[in-house]
Amino acid sequence: AKAEGRNNFQFYTSSGKTAALRSLTLEGDLRMALARRELFVEYQPEIDLKTGETVGLETLVRWDHPTLGLIPPLDFIPLAEETGLILPIGEWILSIACMQNAIWHKSGLEPIRVAVNLSGHQFRQRNLIKTIAKTLTNSRLDPQHLELEITESTLMENAASTIHTVKELKSMGVRLAVDDFGTGYSSLSYLRRFPLDVLKIDRSFIRDVTINADDAAITRAIIAMAHNLNLEVIAEGVENEQQLQFLQENNCDMAQGYYYCRPLTPAKLTKHLEKQSSG
Ligand code: C2E
Ligand code: CA
Ligand code: CA
Ligand code: CA
Repeated sequence: AKAEGRNNFQFYTSSGKTAALRSLTLEGDLRMALARRELFVEYQPEIDLKTGETVGLETLVRWDHPTLGLIPPLDFIPLAEETGLILPIGEWILSIACMQNAIWHKSGLEPIRVAVNLSGHQFRQRNLIKTIAKTLTNSRLDPQHLELEITESTLMENAASTIHTVKELKSMGVRLAVDDFGTGYSSLSYLRRFPLDVLKIDRSFIRDVTINADDAAITRAIIAMAHNLNLEVIAEGVENEQQLQFLQENNCDMAQGYYYCRPLTPAKLTKHLEKQSSG
């Protein structure tokens, strides 16, 4: 009992309680965040390695918390997943990205592809196909200009129903990308069963690609095998010239990373796209 009491005491004074309280508070705050317009998105360019042009944009959500300030997605997306809040939040992100893209087209900019991350919870929900169809109709966006990113680990869960969902999505005409590829230990022969368009090599392989022989070999192998399956390849997290050169030498199709461009607000991105289309 003594030990228990002491443990209790420790529990109440430990950071565990603070952490629990903080996540409870955060959950309540996240519940309100959409209505209070605290969420916003940025877009990060995806560059064609042959032409140097921006050919796609990844939509990345941010939360501007009233007292805590900017909270990065990795600190609230897992909470949104656990609580199911990812469904309304994800729907909002999808519609804002489609509408923004439609606005860019209407303003005379060349058509561009916008990529949206689908979390596991979103991917598994029954209404997914309806939600996406509705969003495409409302924004009048050409489906081929929407790309959905599904992580390798989500694709690996429950093969039969996953393949069914992926095929339904594909039949709507949207593009499909495997996100964070290389972290889930799936094989490319497994992926061949899915009608996919793009494979994104996880940043963890690109980071040391010019100094670590294993990472270089893995990256080369992923690019070659993806091309054999007729998939385009995007390298994530390209931060310097050497990585860029390696990727060009090894026929990677596209790159995304701080070396080219950080994620930008819609206003800044509009300028970036205008500059590209005039230049
Ligand atoms: P992700 O899908 O792998 O997104 C790429 C992340 O890498 C982004 O972080 C981006 O800012 C970061 N990044 C891009 N280039 C570089 C680089 O050169 N170096 C480094 N170190 N990082 C780079 P961010 O925005 O913090 O997002 C983190 C993760 O949160 C995303 O990883 C994704 O899993 C999740 N996430 C972000 N936005 C959304 C969203 O709208 N919906 C869902 N479901 N998840 C999201
Ligand atoms: Ca992504
Ligand atoms: Ca990724
Ligand atoms: Ca990643």
